[in-house]
Amino acid sequence: MLQESSFNSLFAFENLESNVRSYSRTFPVVFRKAAGAILEDENGFEFVDFLSGAGALNYGHNDPDLISDAVKYLTSNGIMHGLDMATSAKREFMEYFDAIILRPRGLRYKFQFPGPTGANAVEAALKLARKATGRHSIISFTNGFHGVSLGALAVTGNRYYREAGGLPTVGAVFMPYDGYLGADNDTSEYLDRVLADASSGVDLPAAIILETVQGEGGINPASKDWLQALQRLCRKNSILLIVDDIQAGCGRTGNFFSFEFADLSPDIIVLSKSLSGCGLPMSLLLLKPELDVWRPGEHNGTFRGNNLAFVTGTAALRKFWTNENLSEGVAKTGHILSERLRQVAQSGPDHGLSVRGRGMMLGLDCGTGKLAERIVRKAFEGGLVVERCGAEDQVIKLLPPLTIDGQMLQRGLDILAHSVHVSA
Ligand code: PLP
Repeated sequence: MLQESSFNSLFAFENLESNVRSYSRTFPVVFRKAAGAILEDENGFEFVDFLSGAGALNYGHNDPDLISDAVKYLTSNGIMHGLDMATSAKREFMEYFDAIILRPRGLRYKFQFPGPTGANAVEAALKLARKATGRHSIISFTNGFHGVSLGALAVTGNRYYREAGGLPTVGAVFMPYDGYLGADNDTSEYLDRVLADASSGVDLPAAIILETVQGEGGINPASKDWLQALQRLCRKNSILLIVDDIQAGCGRTGNFFSFEFADLSPDIIVLSKSLSGCGLPMSLLLLKPELDVWRPGEHNGTFRGNNLAFVTGTAALRKFWTNENLSEGVAKTGHILSERLRQVAQSGPDHGLSVRGRGMMLGLDCGTGKLAERIVRKAFEGGLVVERCGAEDQVIKLLPPLTIDGQMLQRGLDILAHSVHVSA
């Protein structure tokens, strides 16, 4: 059990760091080291990590092969910063990504490296969609989350974030996501109808942006049929389809891209989080070649492409994506995880706990934010780092490293099961 002394070293954070800090409140210890699925605090207390940097550490902390390539690069005077100059590290990443990820899937995209965050990539995607189509509005979905910079915020549903923007968010129209109106209501039909109806009040948008599994919005997976219906209506109306795979991509749901199970061919894909393989900031826009209407430097930024992240990203592609082992492991571990979660849900308090998700992106819906908070706090005290999501923070979001071994998975799940039990 976590000792009281672990909490005593937070003075600097509480007094020097802005009120805006958040994870350091939920997990009030000072972390010092991490390896694989384990985070260690300054007192040597170990936590199993089911947060994985909110999806930025799909391959766990400090994978030794990735770190070894990073160290070699660092000690050989490799280019650390190069604006968007041609570098060997960038060339190798693009060539590998094309050869290992895109071509085997029959996909052809051009690469754009915006600033390093997910929101940077979303901004670029929205801007490109508007420029390429000459239209201005974007359709987004209830419970969608795409980042907190102003453009990305406009397509993000949650009021808590939207209200902090300080300006009215413009340019987005929200539509009900799959399942929003109940399982029997196909919301793609409603969308089809309003787009076909010149009197619906909904302008033809430049793009539709969606997550195939909504992460921050509460782990809401869209069905294959719904996603395919959306792609059809995009094609029918010459609307661009943007898949935000920032959280659900890089293997989280099993395949490299989260939309592969639905046979989608998005016009634009945005990736970030686990792309570098070890938590280094990096984002990527994949755009269909015919959409490459940018003029040179029209969308720019000082940190377009992080060369060290290219090196570790290439190492991650080489290690995890040249065979099926990781994808098969995600299917297997995801199954174990969801079965155990269902048992936990059934044995939980009488609040109607339920489980949903895809692959290793799973949510335990606790019905209320209060109960979810109690469980997460107990879990933390017992040595498990896990976060909440959903409109009321009522869903416990489980994102263990995809590479977690069976023993560590059980250790985390045992802590969670106990926490649910004692929080009833
Ligand atoms: N899109 C999705 C689906 C996300 O989950 C997030 C972050 O959680 C973002 C965009 C924004 O990414 P960032 O926080 O790096 O700006």
